[in-house]
Amino acid sequence: MTVAVRTLDDGAWISINDSRAVSNSGIWPLAHYDFCDCEVAYVLLESFYDVGIDHHEVVVGTIGQCIECGHQDSIDDFPVGRIVDGEFHAYEASEFQSLVEPEE
Ligand SMILES: [Zn+2]
Repeated sequence: MTVAVRTLDDGAWISINDSRAVSNSGIWPLAHYDFCDCEVAYVLLESFYDVGIDHHEVVVGTIGQCIECGHQDSIDDFPVGRIVDGEFHAYEASEFQSLVEPEE
């Protein structure tokens, strides 16, 4: 089963199977991701420059900005959801937290 993923509108959206699935206005709390110096980086995704599927997980390349300190950076292979039986299931930001193992 093929799932078509692409970016839309100059990176404002992730399209999955020709429907708009993930928008660039989400804020993701990244407690265990080394994005900036904040203990928890609340990262606003500003645009997407890449999207792909890695073992049923939809991963994007995105430009994000921490709304606490203003640090802006790109994140490669940022997981936003998974494909189950050909359907996209977006991660909730809180769910995303539990997916990421703390770094020792
Ligand atoms: Zn920050």
